[in-house]
Amino acid sequence: MKIDHDLHVHTNISLCASPEATLEMCMEQCKRLGIKKMAITNHMWDHSVSGWEEIGRFYAVQDADYVFAIRKEIDEANKKGANFLFGCETEYSLKERRPAIRPAAAEQMEVLLVPNSHTHITMPKSFYEPHRKHAEYMIDSFWDIVKSDVAKYITAIPHPFLAVACPYDNHMLLNEIRDDEFKRCFDAAAEKGIALELNPNYIKNKSLSEIYDDPILRMFRIGKECGCKFTVATDAHSAEHFENYHLIYVLASLLDLREDDFHPIVRS
Ligand SMILES: [Zn+2]
Ligand SMILES: [Zn+2]
Repeated sequence: MKIDHDLHVHTNISLCASPEATLEMCMEQCKRLGIKKMAITNHMWDHSVSGWEEIGRFYAVQDADYVFAIRKEIDEANKKGANFLFGCETEYSLKERRPAIRPAAAEQMEVLLVPNSHTHITMPKSFYEPHRKHAEYMIDSFWDIVKSDVAKYITAIPHPFLAVACPYDNHMLLNEIRDDEFKRCFDAAAEKGIALELNPNYIKNKSLSEIYDDPILRMFRIGKECGCKFTVATDAHSAEHFENYHLIYVLASLLDLREDDFHPIVRS
């Protein structure tokens, strides 16, 4: 299938994104790469869910009102021919063992992403070792996310089980998770219509043989067998993050993905 969507992009209202990550820059990338549908998904922690207080400065700013403020700008851009979807990438609150968004805000999102792998932000540092403990944190949080009261609004799990800013090789961490553990998680996600996100940057700077042997393929093949749908995303925080977009065809081919393996939102 022709891949022409990117369902996970940050603009500069995400404090960790580059200052030049504006909607104009996103429109230029859409034009350059032939992207027909792009979701703007800035980091957000709805302050009605506790846990942000311990995270610090970042989420003291990026609450729901802050992220909703960009909606107007998105509507304006769409009137001028863009095809942006409004969304957010929220967090997992370990304190409440749930996504950091309530149903009232979740239902207003065209694209809602909830990661189980922002372990650099949400997980106690002591869980990094042994690796199995880190893996178990992600299994448990995945389960809490797909069983939550906002599950029906969730579009995809971004970078599933791929721990962000991990001090060791995050792909090797997948070897700590058994097939039946992935299956239990992905069966539940498939039942709720929650997709798994594929990012071309998972395989950047790898040789073809390294890609072929990469543990992410085992994970995503189990997801596909469970009936999970997929989305494609760069998780761009700056213009350079779009550079590997074409690599997505390597992943899609190795996983033998067909049109109906993708989330309905990118097929319409
Ligand atoms: Zn993320
Ligand atoms: Zn992101």
